[in-house]
Amino acid sequence: MQFIDLKTQYQAYKAEIDAAMAEVVMSTQFIMGPAVHEFEKEMAAYIGVKHAIGCTSGTDALLLAMMALGVRPGDEVLVPDFTFFATAEMVSLLGAVPVFVDVDERTYNMDPSDLKRKITARSKGVIPVSLYGQCADCEEIPGLWMIEDAAQSFGAMRGRNKSGTLTRVATTSFYPAKPLGCYGEGGAVFTNEDALASEIRCLLNQGQRQQYQHARIGINGRLDTLQAAVLRVKLRHLDAELAARQRVAERYTAKLEGAVVTPFIKPGNRSVWAQYTVRVANRDEVREHLKSKGIPTAVHYPVPLHRQEVFACLGVKDESCPVSSKVSGEVVSLPMHPFLTDDEVDQVASALRDVARMPC
Ligand SMILES: *Cc1c(COP(=O)(O)O)cnc(C)c1O
Repeated sequence: MQFIDLKTQYQAYKAEIDAAMAEVVMSTQFIMGPAVHEFEKEMAAYIGVKHAIGCTSGTDALLLAMMALGVRPGDEVLVPDFTFFATAEMVSLLGAVPVFVDVDERTYNMDPSDLKRKITARSKGVIPVSLYGQCADCEEIPGLWMIEDAAQSFGAMRGRNKSGTLTRVATTSFYPAKPLGCYGEGGAVFTNEDALASEIRCLLNQGQRQQYQHARIGINGRLDTLQAAVLRVKLRHLDAELAARQRVAERYTAKLEGAVVTPFIKPGNRSVWAQYTVRVANRDEVREHLKSKGIPTAVHYPVPLHRQEVFACLGVKDESCPVSSKVSGEVVSLPMHPFLTDDEVDQVASALRDVARMPC
């Protein structure tokens, strides 16, 4: 059994993907070829935002968004304690200081009341992360900018709005394992503001407004044409894949309720199920048992940000983020992709039921 089955997916769209990639190779327009612009238009229309800007990765998307917003050394940026490292890493790379906010015990997204407690006079912005595919709470806070890190939630909905449109700027990732993944590195930045969009386009092209006219210190953050060509094909199939993921998630939940802590999706939210993550009291034992039955699992994420070696200097204690400290020891992600069969889901659920113990 595969944790994420990219081979079956490729076989399903092979003719389209091969043709799209061959077209790029024949054109030799590997950098900023027409597929990049076409993909940007299509994803902007898909999520309902004015500007969608392709870039090299979800990490660079965060960097570009914060550079465009003018993050400066010493600024405090609030991030969830329980997320992939890149969210806080780019804050520190710019010389700013990440402030770790605890998460909600049911959704694993940033806890709005802890967020309020951790705001100081030096706070400049907030990066809510839409973890595991479910949109975070993104209530704007006066005086602070907000960037939704939608790396795991492209296609997700909060009410009638799509992830990526909930904040002034938002970012996503097309890393192969994400719900919409390419065949290498890729990412995007979203905004409705013309000035921010043109700043981001300038920054990702080495600060150029015109060729060899450098107005800014930027980066090489351009999305590959080949990746854009693959993404155009996969975007056409995304809604069908999201429906399949939803069916898999519902079947898991029906089979697992009462045995483990199953995911909680807030009313009005539609998750894209980047991960189907449960909580158990005996994670090592569970993973060992599933492995013995040929079922792969993963842990997103075993070490909360405040306990990362590089952030030890910030001196943040477990008591500052009690939920994140607890759940990082209990979460385990199960195989999740649109091509999982009912039979496979049932196998995973029954293996889990054999050994899993409920956390208290
Ligand atoms: C994957 C991920 C990123 C980074 O994306 P890359 O494309 O791998 O750079 C950032 N934030 C979150 C929450 C992620 O899951």
